[in-house]
Amino acid sequence: MRRVWFVACCLVGGALPALAAPCPGNPNALGTSRTLTVDTKSFPRIGTMQYRNTLPLNDHEVVITFDDGPLPPYTDRVLDALAKECVKATYFLVGTMARANPDAVRRIYNAGHTIGTHSLRHPFSLGDLGLARIANEVDGGIAVVRKAAGDPRAVAPFFRIPGLARSNQAESYLASQKLSVWSADEVADDWHYGITPTQIVRKIMSRLESKNRRGVLLLHDIKAATAMAVPLLLKELKARGYKVVHAVPPGPRPESLPDLPPTMVAAKQGWPRVVAQKAETTGSLTRMPRPIRVATRSDSRARDVRLAAALDKKKSKVQSASAFKTGGLFSAR
Ligand SMILES: [Zn+2]
Repeated sequence: MRRVWFVACCLVGGALPALAAPCPGNPNALGTSRTLTVDTKSFPRIGTMQYRNTLPLNDHEVVITFDDGPLPPYTDRVLDALAKECVKATYFLVGTMARANPDAVRRIYNAGHTIGTHSLRHPFSLGDLGLARIANEVDGGIAVVRKAAGDPRAVAPFFRIPGLARSNQAESYLASQKLSVWSADEVADDWHYGITPTQIVRKIMSRLESKNRRGVLLLHDIKAATAMAVPLLLKELKARGYKVVHAVPPGPRPESLPDLPPTMVAAKQGWPRVVAQKAETTGSLTRMPRPIRVATRSDSRARDVRLAAALDKKKSKVQSASAFKTGGLFSAR
């Protein structure tokens, strides 16, 4: 009976009532309060940062999303933090990252999260590309993530444009492919080089509180600072009375995907990893100093870390410039 109701509900993009189940080992977990079925017809464009509409969330409800992964070990740290609190999120995976870490794709899915896509190679000017290249990035990303998952039904028709660099042409193509375009309601600026976990939490919480006290949150699970911020964010959301809603696509969902052996980076454990100073707690927000360094197994590895940091800094600049160059971040639609 419930199954029939569920299907009817999905067709209109409706929401299931609270289905929160006990969280094993954590009776005080934040948990996932309800599931929201998001179909493309009802929700073609999502997120007030760029569009008129967003998800129908109630006061103090958030949907948590992560972009750009998967990338062990940070993705795994985020998954651990979410699992500890029984929180379900939505991931927008990049094709090349999924191809390199198919095992992580399956860990995300098997943990019960939703998987959408975020292009094949994460170009910072998708909106400026010709139609053929847009199609290549969109379709290629979906194909690679589906292949990594091993079951196309595991990949939701949810797409987030890299850098939120929208254009009318890109949005028209995504609509023609029956994909929901996800922008966001609040970002954490966690792509900025040098931002600390505490700053990430403060930024997103202050934005959330100063606006609608609800919305789609955008974070990046490939960042060390974000991986460290997620447990603090979940703690803060709970302390301020927020509930987490899990966005899912309509239709059947495979129970689970066969696990794959860990990729080399994950298997190496310990690199790259983040070493943080001991957290201090002041009030409801845990204050954690910025990581003192990214630990390396040998001095030679430090060079890789410096290179990664330099690339990260460059990416941040290019991303900002690109978003505004493509006619701005904002669309009235
Ligand atoms: Zn991205």
